[in-house]
Order: sequence, then C-alpha cells, then structure tokens
Amino acid sequence: MIIGSHVNFGKKQLLGSVEQALSYGANTFMFYTGAPQNTFRSKLDPELTKQALSLMQENNISLDHIICHAPYIINLANKDNLSSWQFSINFLKNEIKRVQEIGCKYIVVHPGNYLKMSLDIALNNIIEALNEVLDSDDNVMVLIETMAGKGTECGRCLEEIKTIVKGIKKQELIGVCLDTCHLNDSGIDLNNFDQYLDDFDQNIGIEKIKCLHLNDSKNSIGSHKDRHANLGYGTIGFNTLLNIYLNPKLKDVPKILETPYVGEYAPYKIEIDMLKNKTFNPNLNSYFNTDENFGKYS
Ligand code: FE
Ligand code: FE
Ligand code: ZN
Repeated sequence: MIIGSHVNFGKKQLLGSVEQALSYGANTFMFYTGAPQNTFRSKLDPELTKQALSLMQENNISLDHIICHAPYIINLANKDNLSSWQFSINFLKNEIKRVQEIGCKYIVVHPGNYLKMSLDIALNNIIEALNEVLDSDDNVMVLIETMAGKGTECGRCLEEIKTIVKGIKKQELIGVCLDTCHLNDSGIDLNNFDQYLDDFDQNIGIEKIKCLHLNDSKNSIGSHKDRHANLGYGTIGFNTLLNIYLNPKLKDVPKILETPYVGEYAPYKIEIDMLKNKTFNPNLNSYFNTDENFGKYS
C-alpha cells in the first residue's frame, strides 16, 4: 500500500519532509512548499533537494507517489476580485514550477469559494483559471479536492467536480483528490464507498482519482463542517476507513493522513501502524500527554 501523511516543509525543505515521513514508517507523503496558510515561499535549495531525493531513493519512496498541496487561501473562483484571482493563478503557476523542480507530479488544489457569486459563474471562473494555469509546458497534474461544502466551497458534490474536470482542456493534467472527511461531511455515506466509486466512475472516470486523503470526521454525515479526526476517533469509524484504505480499485492511489495532532505530537506513526495491522488502537492518547477530552467528537 502507498501510505503517508502530510509533513512539514521547514528549514530543511524537502529533506525534512522525507525524514519526517520515514520516521512515521510511511512510503509517501504530502507537503506544502511553505506554510499552508500563506503564500510566502522561500527559494528551493538545490542541495537540500538533492539530498532529499537520494534519501527517498534509498528508502524506496517514489517521486510518482508524493503529493504537493497548494495553500488554502488561493481562490480560483473569485474573479469578481480580479487582482486576487490573477494572483491566485500566478501563484499556482509558480507553485507548479517549484514542484516540477523537485520532480513531484501532483499538486492538490481546493477548487475555491463562490462567495456572493452564483455557483455556475464560480465554476466557470475555476475552469478558466485552471485552463490558464495548465497552459504551459509543465507536466504537473492538478488534483482538485472533494470539499465538505463548508460556507461557499465549490466542489462539494460529484456534479461540481465533474463540471470542473470536464471543462479542462488538458485532460492529461487534471485529476481528483478524494478526502474521506470532506465526503462524509458533504453527505456521502462512506459505508457504501463502492457505490460512490461506481458513481464517480460513471460521471468522471475512476482513473482520475490520483490521491486519497484518509481522515475521520469530528462531525456527522452531511454536516458541511470539515473538521478532521484521528482514524477511528470520529463519526466515520475505523473499519469503514480501513475498508476504503484496502479497496482494490484504489490500490495504486497514494493515501495521505491529514488527521489532527494529539496535543503537540504527530500521531501518524501510530495511525499508519493501525492500517498496516488492520487493527484499531484505542489508546492513541496514551502515547502522548494529552487532555481528557481527546477522541471525543462533537
Ligand atoms: Fe485539502
Ligand atoms: Fe484533504
Ligand atoms: Zn479538510
């Protein structure tokens, strides 16, 4: 299985990301090229990248499986604010250049927020923006993420994802990233995940799924909230998530944990072990010093 988590991209850049992934027992990872909340990006250090790539090679982490995630604050839907829309497009273009420099093949992007626009106009703006972003010689595939439908998020159902994907000219450079927390919160019953995959296949094509974010949810199905929980500590439950993890149709798709830290500690080694052992670990908090509310969801 191809399993990892999101990791930091700090002073040691990609090298730090790889070291972190290895410490979790992961064979892939997802990184931001800077802080996910802002668009400040420092220059890539080629020496650190080189060291990172050889460390990946030594440990059989394939460049074909690592994923980059664009920052949350870019909004490809909001053409009403032309300068911020253009900024989002340019930022994403630059981010793709950086990712390409590393050799990473996929970048996950949140479709955008429709704010006060009509949904149709917003979806068209996203399509226009992505067609402009992908209009270069770069070879990085943009993966639009399925969203929870919090606020005015676009991409909260198959129809919206389908509209965006079908609007892209360079079909070879557009894909989809499923997020189990978001799917649950958007109203999909993940106990019938095969049904969802069939619907996805009929509408978009299952081969477009290039990444899966494996998260439990703190909220109930259809809540449109988007708060991630640790595996088995949310409303989706460990067995349902394990079945998704093991689904043969997504065998070659990288699975990425974006579950919350336990206190100040990353839980990924233990959660990855749970998946490898196919067994829920009810004592996640005992590894860390945490408060008594751990694992309780709203
Ligand atoms: Fe995301
Ligand atoms: Fe996600
Ligand atoms: Zn989320």
